[in-house]
Amino acid sequence: MNPYKNIVSRLLATPCLACLAVPARHRGFCAACEEELPWQPPGCERCGVALTGVWPDDLSTTRFRPPAPLCSRCLHQAPVFDQCRCTFAYEPPVSDMIRRFKDNAGFAEYRALSNCFTEHFLSFHDDHRVPLPDLLVPVPLHASRLRARGFNQALLLARRLSRQTGIPVLADSCLRQAGTPQRGLNAEDRQHNMRGVFRPLTAPALTPGRHLAIIDDVVTTTATTQAMASVMRNYAATRIDVWALARSNHQTES
Ligand SMILES: [Zn+2]
Ligand SMILES: [Zn+2]
Repeated sequence: MNPYKNIVSRLLATPCLACLAVPARHRGFCAACEEELPWQPPGCERCGVALTGVWPDDLSTTRFRPPAPLCSRCLHQAPVFDQCRCTFAYEPPVSDMIRRFKDNAGFAEYRALSNCFTEHFLSFHDDHRVPLPDLLVPVPLHASRLRARGFNQALLLARRLSRQTGIPVLADSCLRQAGTPQRGLNAEDRQHNMRGVFRPLTAPALTPGRHLAIIDDVVTTTATTQAMASVMRNYAATRIDVWALARSNHQTES
């Protein structure tokens, strides 16, 4: 065995995106870092938030048991979408990588995270025998944000997912109008703040009876995706899923 070949291939290998020390495997991470990534646990059956206790306190003394684990918010009011699934918890190093991707066009981060996202998406549909959606619908950015950033991260995620699954992307489903920033608002205020932010556009692909998957990068309180899902319900979609790269399990963070 040629020892130089080993050294050269180590020098040429792309380093792991999390530790920057060890050569990466196919997903962009070394084996140890990949194991340590903050994969999102199954959580609430509807909105996907991680659950700390199985049942909320106010139900623990009653004989009522819901058929599937739901968070207290979904028990109180069912979300507009059918199901939200996220690949990661919005925690380091994934949260840092998403920021590098969005703020500095970190496309190595984007490739690594979107590969994990696609694998999660496909294995979920396979394991749960849920049919694949008919269309991928990325959450649009407001025009001024799009100009400043130069790209819509949700559209990039949807396009990569589309390339690997063959599911078409519907990029112009609706227009995002200027809203008050969500930072610092609680879940209820965020939902109120998002009302009327998305204006539907004429989209011939949105015929009634479609199964749609809304694609976003980070889900926090679900206010944005619920506002978008309300617009999609107007097209008589039979099922609306939400797929995001990461989920904040602390619902008041931005
Ligand atoms: Zn590593
Ligand atoms: Zn929930």
